[in-house]
Amino acid sequence: MMVIFKHSTRMTMNINARYARQTVLAELGEEGQKKLLTSSVLCIGAGGLGSPALQYLAAAGIGRIGLVDDDTVDVSNLQRQVLFREEDQGKPKASAAAAALSRLNSSCHVEPYHERFQASNAERLVRNYDVILDGTDNFASKFLINDACMKYGKPLVYGSILGFEAQVSVFWAKHGPCYRCLYPRPPGGHVPNCAEAGVIGAMAGIAGSVQALEAVKMALGLAWCKEKQLEPLLGRLWMLDARTMQSRRLDVPKRPACAICSARPEKIALEDAGAACTSKSGVRPVQADEAVRMVGKACFIDVRETPELASGKVPEALHIPLWTLLNDEGALGDISPKTPVIVYCQHGIRSLTAASHLLALGFTNVSHIAGGIVRWPAKLI
Ligand SMILES: [Zn+2]
Repeated sequence: MMVIFKHSTRMTMNINARYARQTVLAELGEEGQKKLLTSSVLCIGAGGLGSPALQYLAAAGIGRIGLVDDDTVDVSNLQRQVLFREEDQGKPKASAAAAALSRLNSSCHVEPYHERFQASNAERLVRNYDVILDGTDNFASKFLINDACMKYGKPLVYGSILGFEAQVSVFWAKHGPCYRCLYPRPPGGHVPNCAEAGVIGAMAGIAGSVQALEAVKMALGLAWCKEKQLEPLLGRLWMLDARTMQSRRLDVPKRPACAICSARPEKIALEDAGAACTSKSGVRPVQADEAVRMVGKACFIDVRETPELASGKVPEALHIPLWTLLNDEGALGDISPKTPVIVYCQHGIRSLTAASHLLALGFTNVSHIAGGIVRWPAKLI
């Protein structure tokens, strides 16, 4: 039977034809499609991650899409923010993105917000949508988005890229851990974003597309996913190292002591990005030449995979791959939480996750080598 679904006041469309390539899937079908058509997603950040995510969500027939971005399109964005065209330079990203999405799917109701996501507008924005997608590129925003989603009971599709590494997860206080269970506090010091550290555009495409897929699962709902054997990344962190195309999926435990997802919602106080950034108690980045002088004085932990050790490691460093460290507290043996610990990996991204995890376990003096072991100036063994 032909289904004609009045999707918006702007047009009546033949759903069968438009979404045929996905409704044919047993995991979706016409019933699943109807769920998508009546669902809503808020994408915070219409940049590298938001560009692919927003396009796939609009194309998939998500009924209502909000997008928050206070930035304007710059020529340097075009290398990865594929939602925009050369003629969009200088325009607000929110309106340029909304126009592009409307051209892609005119029956999708797009709500652009040309404003910065902050504590004062978080409730208004987050409460109005079923699923929230984090397309931002800095820790401060990610902490605020996490806290707002947990406070207002919304599922959060998290994504992050840097260099050749990508991470995606889904956080939802009712059903699993939150971002702060993974990273308890914003890291101390300065963590580079894509603009500073560099990124291949396709990396944003990969991570943003995985986020769109997870947002579709969350829009279908957990009961639907369970029935259809779709497993969202709820409580799991998907990581890709695109240098080798090695990907891993690890469990993220919910921390009973987490100040956000284990707190009563009314107790969660939202803190603006700037304030969260100045938190003093995070992971301390150390430069490699400074770390060389700490050999013999601090406990070095190498969190790379075994094949990566072929290029050498810091003398006397313990080797505990990241996934082992995150999933097996026994892996640390009898190291005292007061021991000065310096964590490192190849390029300084996995080590940040590992160091944050150590802080969550109660270690008090944790650093990681900024830029990774590739910056190490001395002889490795
Ligand atoms: Zn938590």
